[in-house]
Amino acid sequence: MRKETSPGRQIYEAIRGATNKCPLCGEGVVTTLDHHLPSSAYPLLSVVPINLVPACHDCNNNKGETRPADAKEQTLHPYFDDFSLHPWLGARVRKTQGHEPMSMEFFVDPHPDWDDTLTGRLRTHLRVFNLDYRYRQLVATHIAATNHDLKTTPIRDVSTWLSRKARGWAYEGNPNTMGGALYRGLAADEWYVNGGWHTQG
Ligand SMILES: [Zn+2]
Repeated sequence: MRKETSPGRQIYEAIRGATNKCPLCGEGVVTTLDHHLPSSAYPLLSVVPINLVPACHDCNNNKGETRPADAKEQTLHPYFDDFSLHPWLGARVRKTQGHEPMSMEFFVDPHPDWDDTLTGRLRTHLRVFNLDYRYRQLVATHIAATNHDLKTTPIRDVSTWLSRKARGWAYEGNPNTMGGALYRGLAADEWYVNGGWHTQG
């Protein structure tokens, strides 16, 4: 289907071109299509459009031929699974020793009413796409820029400023973006809000 001359090529291009930002991680640029259920295990689904999700290279690569053994191991389908009503992606500050700059750790913070299957799927999504590790690499520059901006922000306004940044990252109404979680996590951290950022250069 990916071959230039294949009749499916136009469909492939149309799905891949539907968005530039990878809907699986929210960060990467779409370069390919991911088979939601892998073509090796489900060959008949390999050309079914709803099984094809635009993806960035990292997401596609991290997932590989992973396939779920049960419902909890099913990653999210960005167009059929809507988890955007609750901010389930959490981030907490990891203070480090010595001269290492602080960093963040990303985790699943489920709604108390969600059952084990839903929560399990979110954890699977984070694990399969390696999002904690990948987001940690990406937030370093955001944290450095934030620490710089906070130098001119009165301390009583820091928490409000960070919460506003978190809302700004909720594009298309989805609070579970890397930046949304990052800024919610910073706003909720007493050490950081009360001047911890100041120790970060
Ligand atoms: Zn991605």
